[in-house]
Amino acid sequence: MRLSRPLPPNSVIGILGGGQLGRMLTLAAARLGLRCHIYAPEPDSPAFQVSAHHICAAYDDSAALEAFASAVDVVTYEFENVPAETAAILGRLKPLAPGAEALATSQDRLVEKTFLTRIGLETAPFAPVDDPAGLAEAVALIGRPAILKTRRFGYDGKGQTTIRADTALDAAWAQTGGRPAILEGFVAFEKEVSVIAARGWDGAVAVYDVPENRHANHILHQSIVPAAIAPETAEAARDIARRITAALDYVGIIGVELFLSRETGRERLIVNEIAPRVHNSGHWTMDACLISQFEQHIRAVAGWPLGGPERHSDVVMTNLLGDDAAGWQDLAREPRTAIHLYGKAESRPGRKMGHVNRLTPRQD
Ligand code: AMP
Repeated sequence: MRLSRPLPPNSVIGILGGGQLGRMLTLAAARLGLRCHIYAPEPDSPAFQVSAHHICAAYDDSAALEAFASAVDVVTYEFENVPAETAAILGRLKPLAPGAEALATSQDRLVEKTFLTRIGLETAPFAPVDDPAGLAEAVALIGRPAILKTRRFGYDGKGQTTIRADTALDAAWAQTGGRPAILEGFVAFEKEVSVIAARGWDGAVAVYDVPENRHANHILHQSIVPAAIAPETAEAARDIARRITAALDYVGIIGVELFLSRETGRERLIVNEIAPRVHNSGHWTMDACLISQFEQHIRAVAGWPLGGPERHSDVVMTNLLGDDAAGWQDLAREPRTAIHLYGKAESRPGRKMGHVNRLTPRQD
């Protein structure tokens, strides 16, 4: 179902998922006079603290899903592992953005890479792996080093095993739990970058500047904006986002993760994965742009005009993981630094507790 008219202030946006992304979407919606209704199974969901309404129920609770749908004007989500059946139930009752095709494409690495290749974008070489014999064949085809990834439910490096020169294939297969997987050729990248883009119901597109993303232990540590890349490469990255959103008839914010490799001096972009939601590597937009990715997503799904994605400052976003957030007093004292804390009661090593955006005057 498509949205038939722009949603006026006081309309209700339904969000599946109650983590920090849902929380920041809700805060951005509130600034526009829109209310959010959060649907999440975890009782201590950070988004519940700031939302007008919430339902705490399982994603397969069809009665709760129907009650939720009847209380909202549009449905969106803050994570891509929403069960397909949940999305299908809600999509029959209310406009769903991003739509079912975007969700299905991003949930399965094989479907995702096949889609990206079909629309002419470059990915790492890949092959499906369904059993130990298939793994041996895929390694013969792709070579080593390579990365074995489960097709579904992988994030922050989970469900991944690197196959090096001396890796025993049966051990690698056992590590993925014997679940359907793909083998990807190892990309000797120089940097990781991403693009955050929005597309409206009317096909209008707004694309943000390209950050360089640095990871530690497979978790995003920093996004540095702008990335130190050639202007043509940045434009090529933005064009990749435009092509993906057009091909999926996409509505909302998308995050596209890219590897940048260098060949005979020239920069080349290889698509790693797409996230059909607001993205951690877009958190810098909260303070370095007039319209953040969160407000942009709300504008897109609510049928509002998109805002300008211009960046007024240079910025480094740093995630606060686990005990990093215990330093909040020192961080709050830092000049030209905006601190965002997610209201999570319990800190665990590696858990995303907040982030800071450190701004400097724009150089270019
Ligand atoms: P993913 O879960 O696919 O986003 O992968 C997590 C991280 O693993 C990426 O951000 C890269 O740092 C690394 N990685 C994933 N796939 C590849 C690849 N094909 N070649 C090299 N590094 C990779």
